[in-house]
Amino acid sequence: MILLNPGPVNLSQRVRRALAGPDLCHREPEFAALQTRVRRALLAVYGLDPRQWTAVVLTGSGTTAVEAMLTSLVPDASPTLVVANGVYGERIAAILGVHGMPVVPVHHAWSAAPDVDAVARVLDGRPDVRHVAVVHHETTTGRLNDLAALGAACRARGVALLVDAVSSFGAEAIDFEGWGVAACAASSNKCLHGVPGTASVVVRRQALDDEHVPVRTLTLDLRRHEDAQATGGTLFTPAVHGLHALDAALCELADGGGWRGRRERYRSLARRVRDGLAGLGVAALLPEGASSCVLRSYRLPGSLPYDALHDELKRRGFVIYAGQAVLADRIFRVSTMGAITDEDVARFLAAFGEVAASRAATGQDRVDEAA
Ligand SMILES: *Cc1c(COP(=O)(O)O)cnc(C)c1O
Repeated sequence: MILLNPGPVNLSQRVRRALAGPDLCHREPEFAALQTRVRRALLAVYGLDPRQWTAVVLTGSGTTAVEAMLTSLVPDASPTLVVANGVYGERIAAILGVHGMPVVPVHHAWSAAPDVDAVARVLDGRPDVRHVAVVHHETTTGRLNDLAALGAACRARGVALLVDAVSSFGAEAIDFEGWGVAACAASSNKCLHGVPGTASVVVRRQALDDEHVPVRTLTLDLRRHEDAQATGGTLFTPAVHGLHALDAALCELADGGGWRGRRERYRSLARRVRDGLAGLGVAALLPEGASSCVLRSYRLPGSLPYDALHDELKRRGFVIYAGQAVLADRIFRVSTMGAITDEDVARFLAAFGEVAASRAATGQDRVDEAA
């Protein structure tokens, strides 16, 4: 089965073999060495200086890392401005809400780009806001949010950026210094090509030093995790085999030219998908320049309801992804993450063409139009 959903991804043989690595006790030096290697490699993806930055590995999903980031770095009663232009931006606000943390939301339509001027205006009127939280690649639509402009507006006001990079870390440019990033949440089973079960937060060491931040959770407190991990320890039982896999996945990323190499690879696959679907009369939701290299949204052809399209493609070995909420009956999504080949994409396009043609042949088109 070829997974064209935005994570978890198809594994390479190297990562799959690593998953069957040695059973380790997490209180033994072998595990400490593995964890330390992974933490260093996570910083190395973006060439970050370990004196300024640290990577905390967590057991859980991407949302675990986002929740750890949000709850560990914002001082008591300090409002967080949330830039929301999709499901994951709205989820940031929901996480803060669950923890009773004040939110200043700046909502956008889901197909819109973040309005940097609007954010700047809100920041100018709310000097009590010291953190802006935003999604880098908004997987809801495939839009790559322009964090250079947003980051500049924040930096000019001394406001720190907290980034959900769950679906971009490892494949898109992230300018940690230039954008004024305080922390960035990542998942192992999206662009890094590891297995589900581990996630990480890359955080500026200075951001961990704020004594006005209360301990809000026992299991997700980044400061305590970092303290333990700095000496090779862990607070709780980690996903040991998930870390074996992530270790291999990070080596594979480096061998393939790092995030730049991966971006080239994804771009090439995404271009094939886009051109192939365009040839079948299926249009992309966003203009080319607005899209990430990772995932694209496409308008559902009127003749193809999502469920039928999904089921017919799945019978042929491909899993696509539905739109969410208001976009559910308007779009479908195709991610090109994971160990997939040009050949897989060619077979996917052939299968898509087959489904579209058989649908047209049954006259379903005309029936739907009449209805
Ligand atoms: C997938 C995703 C998440 C959530 O990750 P889970 O592993 O499902 O918790 C969060 N943010 C973004 C941008 C995502 O794409």
